[in-house]
Amino acid sequence: MPDSPHRVRRVLATAAAPGRFGAVLDRIGTEVAALGERGRPADYIPLLAGADPRRFGMAVAEPDGTVYGVGDWREPFSTQSITKVFALALVLALEGAEIWRRVGREPSGNPFNSLVQLEYENGVPRNPFINAGALVVTDRLQTLTGHAAGRVRDLLREESGNSDVDFVPEVAASEATHGDRNAALAHFMASYGNITNPVPHLLAAYFSQCSIAASCADLALAAGFLARRGVRANGSVLLTRSQTKQVNAVMLTCGTYDAAGEFAHRVGLPGKSGVGGGIVAVVPGVCTLCVWSPGLDRHGNSVAGVWALDRFTTLTGLSVF
Ligand code: GLN
Repeated sequence: MPDSPHRVRRVLATAAAPGRFGAVLDRIGTEVAALGERGRPADYIPLLAGADPRRFGMAVAEPDGTVYGVGDWREPFSTQSITKVFALALVLALEGAEIWRRVGREPSGNPFNSLVQLEYENGVPRNPFINAGALVVTDRLQTLTGHAAGRVRDLLREESGNSDVDFVPEVAASEATHGDRNAALAHFMASYGNITNPVPHLLAAYFSQCSIAASCADLALAAGFLARRGVRANGSVLLTRSQTKQVNAVMLTCGTYDAAGEFAHRVGLPGKSGVGGGIVAVVPGVCTLCVWSPGLDRHGNSVAGVWALDRFTTLTGLSVF
């Protein structure tokens, strides 16, 4: 397919009702202030524990690259598991369906860092968005590129147009000091031959990938290819239309772990959360959204983030259903 012309990107400074959804964002930004229960920041990564649950940002990126937001929408935060979407997209772009031999695409119904299912299922994780599955995807990306985390960072930079998007080595180190569970998952899968890089190298790549800091604006823009049927910001093709559908489908069914059913019920969009408090969501053909608020529910999803996306789809009537 020939490249389409380079797309223009405009960053608008304030919501104040620009763009198609500015008024809706302003309303959500006002309403969220009254939200009582905000959950608690992740504390198993010590550097994330001190985040303020009152922080809130939300951005919308339209397919032409127009981006705007409300609250702390330009504040970088720890992307964590949101990067799993970008790693999967890169592996699919590089070698197509191969990866599905090593990871499934069914909801797990278990917490994101669970070990139990892996033994029953012979070291093949349920889906690419629980930690075990993401470790397999990063392992494959590492083998294919030699620098998995760097490729994820570069994709985020290129699609957001923001070269400040980067690793936060202190966050990666903080996670590594409490990384026993991810190490256990990786070693266990290695025993089945489903991890091919040395586990310490893989964990370093995975923790680096998770440590990337980016804002709601950056992530809403970076996920734009999921709303544009796989077309990147520069008009080139990252994923086929069918692969884009597949990634969105796995986000819908697995992107918020054992709360994916509740997320689909409330929000009705493909979404991917991270324990930094961010959630990216896609309205195919219309826009991509990113919300951030560090207080999490017991599943590891941002309380105010899910609430805000719920309000967005309720107020606009947009969803994939
Ligand atoms: N880095 C985190 C972990 O592996 C990511 C988890 C998440 O965001 N849900 O535990």
